[in-house]
Amino acid sequence: MQCLSADQILQVWELGQTQHPIDRALTLLGFALPDRSRQALSRLSIGQRDALLLRLRQRMFGEAMESFAVCPSCGESLEFTLKATELRLVEPSLAEPPAYEWSIADYTLTVTLPTSQDLAAVVDCSDLATAQATLTQRCIQQVSCAGVAIAPHSLPDAVLQQLAQQMADSDPQAELGLDLTCPACQSDWQVVFDIATFFWTELSVQAKRLLREVHRLARSYGWREADILAMSAMRRQFYLDLVDA
Ligand SMILES: [Zn+2]
Repeated sequence: MQCLSADQILQVWELGQTQHPIDRALTLLGFALPDRSRQALSRLSIGQRDALLLRLRQRMFGEAMESFAVCPSCGESLEFTLKATELRLVEPSLAEPPAYEWSIADYTLTVTLPTSQDLAAVVDCSDLATAQATLTQRCIQQVSCAGVAIAPHSLPDAVLQQLAQQMADSDPQAELGLDLTCPACQSDWQVVFDIATFFWTELSVQAKRLLREVHRLARSYGWREADILAMSAMRRQFYLDLVDA
């Protein structure tokens, strides 16, 4: 896994402008893992994807992640620092995710965990319940009852619910809940932390900062964009300080 250069940060940011968040995450990982095809990355489970994104984010921007939330009870703004290593529940892996064989009630199911491809297939669903149901159905490779194969859509709701829970438990990195307590009113609540959105927001800030730096240096010195971006951040900053002096 390689950190993105200044030029690559701008490329990812530019490509991502017209992409769905699911595709942005793959674009980002594609630059960091150039020997992996987009197709292969899209077959990683969401938890694997997020563990890789967390590792990349840590390498590029460090361990501390400044976050904020708004208390749903009193509206107080809460700022807090997350640590990338503490958020990473599983080791990043590029291995093809396994198929699980689970027995639930009288049924034997062969199941894979949701991937970026599966998420992309349900983005157009009209509501969350339909999306979740479709996602679960997509992940069922085979199902049988007393040795006889049956169609996944004929499974009882109770079995599907238990299956969805088992899938979530098997990919804990895919949905990361944070327990928060409001310092003003002491109420507790939970938020879902999404590394893909968090990282993209940071990358966008970084991209715009780089563009402003290019603008100032190009205007002052007449240097080419490619040459300015190829400099180390330290050297760019040194020249920027001179421009301001
Ligand atoms: Zn509060």
